[in-house]
Amino acid sequence: MGASPFRISSLLPVMLNADLHCHSNVSDGMLAPADVAARAKANGVELWALTDHDEVGGIADARKAASALNLRFVAGVEISITWAGKTVHIVGLGIDENNAALREGLESVRGGRERRGHEIADQLAQAGIPGAYEGALKFADNPEMLGRTHFARFLVEAGAQPTVSDVFANYLVEGKPGFVPHRWGTLEQAISWIRGAGGRAVIAHPGRYPLTDMQLDALITNFRDLGGEGIEVVTGSHTPDQYDSFARIARHAGLLASRGSDFHGPAESRVDIGTLPPLPASLTPVWHDW
Ligand code: AMP
Ligand code: MN
Ligand code: MN
Ligand code: MN
Repeated sequence: MGASPFRISSLLPVMLNADLHCHSNVSDGMLAPADVAARAKANGVELWALTDHDEVGGIADARKAASALNLRFVAGVEISITWAGKTVHIVGLGIDENNAALREGLESVRGGRERRGHEIADQLAQAGIPGAYEGALKFADNPEMLGRTHFARFLVEAGAQPTVSDVFANYLVEGKPGFVPHRWGTLEQAISWIRGAGGRAVIAHPGRYPLTDMQLDALITNFRDLGGEGIEVVTGSHTPDQYDSFARIARHAGLLASRGSDFHGPAESRVDIGTLPPLPASLTPVWHDW
């Protein structure tokens, strides 16, 4: 049988190899935006979004590289918020990265990171690990985005833990040395910045938050009431069981479904760009009308 003149992805939108969540060295990823684009293309991604934490500084390079590779690109961002005292991440997709209110909002979210970094380092020093601020900063290509991933890479380099994922079991998280409670933006701000910039708001990796079922339900209701539209179902942060449970939740809540690896770097991320299973066919993908 000859090749079909139609790409299967154009017939079945959920089959499109979309990767709408990953990071470059503009936040806490390891590759430059153009190198992330090349990796996405090489892995067969058909629709790609760069979603750096609290920062859109990599979008121009990412778009240029994607265009040269003939890779469909949407501008994205992953915004840190505090909701019910917990840190939650909201992805914005299809944003105009030059929108002034979005840029000012992200700048205000980034603003607290330097001081938080010093507090993390003070705690690590008390735990017997000196020099963490300077040590972590060496791993942060964008010093404004100094974050826990950079501290984790420093702790591995210093021999305190064998891998970054071990660090997040023993340091930098609630109840362990180097955890500093932090107030990010609000859910309302994140959604209004994203929508104001013409984008679609998506709850990132909902299976990862330390929320009860009732709290998660309240988050989703709150998110929808504020104009949020989507939720990640297939992500590098979910188990296959969670693909099913969040597919049910997406359908029940009438939310669009998203898919993304949350790739940070070749040696570090369990899931490579564009390699996750497709979205369950019963869902409406966040890209259905793009
Ligand atoms: P921050 O925004 O500075 O609090 O850093 C959060 C980042 O830490 C996330 O975006 C992840 O890249 C990383 N992170 C958090 N938890 C883990 C984990 N369990 N394993 C690996 N990386 C993690
Ligand atoms: Mn990260
Ligand atoms: Mn995240
Ligand atoms: Mn992420």
